[in-house]
Amino acid sequence: MRLKDKITVITGAGSGIGKTTALLFASEGAKVIVNDLSEPNGQATVKEIDQSGGEALFIQADVTNPESVKAMVERIIEKYDRIDVLFNNAGISGVGALHELELDVWERVMKVNVNGVFLPSKYIVPHMIEKKCGSIINMSSCIAEIGLAKRAVYSATKGAVLALTKSMQVDYAAYGIRVNALLPGTILTPFVENYLKTAYDDPEKALEGIKKRQLSGELGRPIDVAYAALYLASDESKFMMGSPLYIDGGATFG
Ligand code: NAD
Repeated sequence: MRLKDKITVITGAGSGIGKTTALLFASEGAKVIVNDLSEPNGQATVKEIDQSGGEALFIQADVTNPESVKAMVERIIEKYDRIDVLFNNAGISGVGALHELELDVWERVMKVNVNGVFLPSKYIVPHMIEKKCGSIINMSSCIAEIGLAKRAVYSATKGAVLALTKSMQVDYAAYGIRVNALLPGTILTPFVENYLKTAYDDPEKALEGIKKRQLSGELGRPIDVAYAALYLASDESKFMMGSPLYIDGGATFG
């Protein structure tokens, strides 16, 4: 059991990578706080964990809303008195070249993908400082390092998350807190299915193009990213600090 009794918080755990990671963490002995905006999806994750004999608690909270995040953290501390792992995973897409984007779209994607890392971290870090340990995993993307068409705001958010990860690591290293980033390539989840439908007239053809961009020739699976999150959450990665971890089938270096 690599996360036995660790109190782990996963934002956006009602779907895709977050959900798969919640199931994996629970199977490794973690007590998982499943956060999401969607109550039915979050509860479905908890139900699957319950059915497999794990322990999980759903807390509905909007990661862009300070009051909502604060209330979530207070509830967790009241119940468990500590938080060992925070996986800042919740995120949304945004399609368009910069000049095509309306300000409200820009601000919405910035809010979820960047404020959505800031706020849970802001309210959880003081509890990690108090216990002098913790692992924070921030969801960036390989798009933080490579230019892709019509992903202006999404790229900007994921670049910000990567830079923030390094800055956080410097600030919190002295308190025994590690902060690392995940940089996935294209992983087949509802997020990507929606993106393909919104961005392309021919989603099937676009999908083939994306597969070719990855040296693997295939899309990644949520479990590929979940295994990387498990590594960063566990003490096995204790010498990793402020690092980007690529799970991209070679997309960044291909
Ligand atoms: P997904 O859409 O399947 O899951 C995202 C979850 O986040 C959803 O359940 C959604 O309800 C939740 N969410 C959205 N806004 C929220 C908010 N304000 N508060 C709380 N929860 C909220 O997406 P996914 O593909 O699993 O993506 C997860 C993360 O991985 C995102 O940050 C995404 O940018 C990143 N990522 C995905 C890929 C990919 O190819 N799928 C690649 C690189 C990075």
